[in-house]
Amino acid sequence: TTVQEELMAAIRTIPDYPKEGIIFRDITTLLGNARAFRRAVDALVQPWAGSKVDQIAGIEARGFILGGAVAHQLSAGFVPIRKKGKLPHETVRIAYSLEYGIDEMEMHKDAITPGDKVIVVDDLIATGGTAEAACKLLQSMGADIVAACFIVDLPDLGGRSKLEALGVPVRTLVSFP
Ligand code: 5GP
Repeated sequence: TTVQEELMAAIRTIPDYPKEGIIFRDITTLLGNARAFRRAVDALVQPWAGSKVDQIAGIEARGFILGGAVAHQLSAGFVPIRKKGKLPHETVRIAYSLEYGIDEMEMHKDAITPGDKVIVVDDLIATGGTAEAACKLLQSMGADIVAACFIVDLPDLGGRSKLEALGVPVRTLVSFP
């Protein structure tokens, strides 16, 4: 089987979660499948194997799980991008819109050195609003974002073009219409 087929089969689909009409792609089943988890991480990092990446920025919370594995694989550091109020030291913060209202995410002020090569990691890109905010925050600190990587793309929601507009190449492994 191809990586795509294996990963698609390992992702569980939950209709009407978190609310009616939403089809949720649950990657906990992929994480719990040792072979699929390894193949997903290997496939995500493959374009950068052997090249120098300074930091992996993981988006809370599923981006922490994948980002930690990716950082280890590329011998890079890990920077958590968190919901506001969770980080103990001085932070920089950015507001972004959700379907209803706005939220804020933040990172430590000293987590990135200007010029650092950074890869952003999350499990899934939908509208791209979350990853766009993370990329803007990182770029405001002088990060050179090499790519943003996701296991799942929901291409109908158009997230990819939001990141490409920031000059960030996007890598995804499987798409669901
Ligand atoms: P966006 O900001 O691109 O619209 O939404 C992406 C964010 O919401 C990501 O952090 C992702 O983890 C979460 N998300 C939205 N829909 C889903 C889904 O169907 N499955 C999973 N696993 N995460 C989702």
